[in-house]
Amino acid sequence: MALLSLLEADDMRDALTGLANAERVRSTLAQWQVSRENEADADCSRSCCRVMLLGLGRIDTVNLAYGASVGDRALLEVARRILVFAEDEFESEPWLAARLSGGNFLLAVRENCSRERWQWLAEALADIVSHPISDDANADTLRLWPRIAVMQPASLETPDIILDRLADTLARAQDRHGSRVLWVDGELSPPGRSSASLEADLLSALDRDEIKIVYQPQFALGDDRLIGAEALARWNHPTLGNLGANALFTIAERADHVAQLSQHIARAAIADAANWPDRLRLSLNVTPADLSAGTFASNLQDIIGETGFDPHLLTLEITEHVLLADLERAAISFSALRAHGMRVALDDFGAGFCNFRYLKLLPLDYLKLDRTMVEGLGHDARDLAIFRGMVTMAKALDLSIIVEGVERSDQIRIAREEGAAIYQGFIGGKPLASDAFQVFAANRLAG
Ligand code: C2E
Ligand code: CA
Ligand code: CA
Repeated sequence: MALLSLLEADDMRDALTGLANAERVRSTLAQWQVSRENEADADCSRSCCRVMLLGLGRIDTVNLAYGASVGDRALLEVARRILVFAEDEFESEPWLAARLSGGNFLLAVRENCSRERWQWLAEALADIVSHPISDDANADTLRLWPRIAVMQPASLETPDIILDRLADTLARAQDRHGSRVLWVDGELSPPGRSSASLEADLLSALDRDEIKIVYQPQFALGDDRLIGAEALARWNHPTLGNLGANALFTIAERADHVAQLSQHIARAAIADAANWPDRLRLSLNVTPADLSAGTFASNLQDIIGETGFDPHLLTLEITEHVLLADLERAAISFSALRAHGMRVALDDFGAGFCNFRYLKLLPLDYLKLDRTMVEGLGHDARDLAIFRGMVTMAKALDLSIIVEGVERSDQIRIAREEGAAIYQGFIGGKPLASDAFQVFAANRLAG
């Protein structure tokens, strides 16, 4: 559960990003530390917490060079990436994402995760934050270079002590070349698994079948019929436990194994979907790296040929993070695949910097609206107005709308009334392992 969603009072939020503010951080950490003292559970399995402070060293330079509004948009984008990351990585544990000041962000989780995992999460987050941020207004891209201080607070440390120790460590990390992640107790990284060995692990994970695919059901809004599922990857690491899709792709990207990983996922998912009943559709995520690999379209066609899967049942979801330079090449690949009957969805629309050039240049069938675009439906008039605008635009472009991250029935009702076509989200079903999805589909289609 995200604590953020429980923040009612605006005075507990950072006005720019909507994340928690420093006051909220102090009160939450104080609460966690007190309940930890009262906790009888000696191994503190539930009550320990982990905290990291991420600092963007260059944000002042960005403000000076590009102006404060570009700086603000970059901070908003960083806040969004931190939120998405936390939502992907933490499932049932309470967590808190905050902006303390300027370019300093804090992420805390009330979980007794291993030191290795916390180190790994810090590195993955640093990677995600340092991906280029495109600024459409100036057709520019920015890169930020985050440093992160990490700690595991001792039970008697107060919020002020925790924040002071993190700030001191961050200042040391910012002075130092080469160490992006620094523990407050001075160690560069815990003994054990380095990020290089994780990258090496990925290759054997592909062979050892540790990469699992889960399927999240998708439904027609008109009659609530199950129409298919999106394939989502998970890495069940032998020592670190389950790694979310974002962490998995970050490692793959660093090790230059994205194309291999994507092919592995496509092959396994298409083989699974070839056994699904009733012409259920499969959605696959496609990364920018896949498209620039050049062989993507022909590999996909090979897999389809081998499995006998009907390409008319396949949807490819592409995110907006493709750099503009690759867009024309992407358009050619997608046109070729569409000629074989596949459909193309523009994923995560409305998250981060919206880029309308994608709509102009890519051959598309669906617009998949990001969760943040449907969150406020039912209680926020502006969200409804924006949603209506998106539906009108999609209709004019002859695109169907998929809404994702749907968690409440009022969102389904409004999306249906407004003319969206498909929904997906925890309310309809969480991502399921292959066998469980087959059972789900059989029950759903029978009933
Ligand atoms: P995405 O394509 O936008 O996938 C939707 C993400 O939202 C999934 O997280 C899903 O579990 C989550 N989600 C679904 N319904 C809800 C809901 O009602 N509420 C909330 N809060 N979240 C919901 P997941 O699986 O961690 O994937 C994260 C991202 O990683 C994906 O975002 C996608 O961009 C990428 N990814 C996942 N699997 C693959 C893959 O096989 N290939 C590629 N290229 N990318 C993948
Ligand atoms: Ca997707
Ligand atoms: Ca999405």
